[in-house]
Amino acid sequence: MAVAAPADPALLPSPSGHFGRYGGVFVPETLMTALSDLGAAYEVARDDPAFQAELSHHLKEFAGRPTELYFAERLTAHCGGARIYLKREDLLHTGAHKINNALGQALLARRMGKKRIIAETGAGQHGVATAAVCAKFGLECVVYMGAVDMERQSLNVFRMRLMGAEVRGVEAGQKTLKDAVNEAMRDWVTNVRGTHYILGSALGAHPYPMMVRDFHRVIGRETKQQLLAREGRLPDEMVACVGGGSNAIGFFFEFLNDDGVRLIGVEAGGRGIRRGEHAARFEGGRLGVLQGSKTYILQDPDGQIELTHSVSAGLDYAAIGPEHAYYRDRGRIDYAYACDDEVIKTFQLVSRLEGILPALESTHALVHGLKRASELKKDQVVVINLSGRGDKDVNQIARMLNVAL
Ligand SMILES: *Cc1c(COP(=O)(O)O)cnc(C)c1O
Repeated sequence: MAVAAPADPALLPSPSGHFGRYGGVFVPETLMTALSDLGAAYEVARDDPAFQAELSHHLKEFAGRPTELYFAERLTAHCGGARIYLKREDLLHTGAHKINNALGQALLARRMGKKRIIAETGAGQHGVATAAVCAKFGLECVVYMGAVDMERQSLNVFRMRLMGAEVRGVEAGQKTLKDAVNEAMRDWVTNVRGTHYILGSALGAHPYPMMVRDFHRVIGRETKQQLLAREGRLPDEMVACVGGGSNAIGFFFEFLNDDGVRLIGVEAGGRGIRRGEHAARFEGGRLGVLQGSKTYILQDPDGQIELTHSVSAGLDYAAIGPEHAYYRDRGRIDYAYACDDEVIKTFQLVSRLEGILPALESTHALVHGLKRASELKKDQVVVINLSGRGDKDVNQIARMLNVAL
């Protein structure tokens, strides 16, 4: 019998890893024990003050937390409406929010006595964060990456190798992220005793969506404290980009019970909402199972995964984290999308007006956040999560603007 899921965010997911009808554990039997061991170890660590203190220490000293909440004065004047704040996750070590989760999972692996780490990466950002924490803690590190992505992101491949990671090219399928995930799962099945798989977003089988979310909740906790100190009130709206959904759920979580705060996730509209041209799962997707989890997926009528496209590699994935599907159904989080051409324009605008090069992923949130700020009143407040810095994207921007470097 189906049981209605509780409305209290703190009680989700259920012990079986479900967010309402989403989530769960859809993996080969050989991984079931590994996942339940991981879930058990995580729950003990989560409730252990010593683990939390250790994590806080490294988040501060290695990653650079807390990050600033920055008042974007010139963007606010430009939009002419609500006051705009940016949560500066771009200032973290390795350039994005991903280090929060990589640190948390590396500490958990160490606690579980696992000395070998595997990960998969598309754009390379998660691979770089994972390589960095493995170097720091002296853990062996193998990163799977599609051969096509390795060519597109050769600089990140070199960064990972400089920090001692072994990067293994994946020649299967389309040679991109989805294929790298399959390869990482295969490795894990084979080497599960001594190996931990650091998954990079709020995706996959339970306990990953919960664990990754929890490691990013610090973003929203800090935002709440900082905005209360600065404005003496909660924001009217908060906006974040959604790839797998980790920066967004970490940013939103602390506000889910604050009904007056509107939460908006922004997906990649690519070249427009046509098959194969975008990665907006809530626009063109439907319910299915991919790589461990039941959620919204871009698929053809036979259930084959569709090609996706986005100017930003970090948002270019066919599935969305299950918790997002749950809050969309409940109407608690709204979703929008931004298209490549608007993203390029807004990247230039924010660079020029604020002296900040935003990651193309984060720029999706900026496109929608600036639109909303223009529509809101001057005494209102919009906070946008700046999930990462755009230095990694400048070659691509130059290409798109036909500028020779
Ligand atoms: C990876 C990445 C994203 C997308 O991942 P989420 O799990 O949806 O947060 C967004 N922004 C940046 C800067 C990234 O590197």
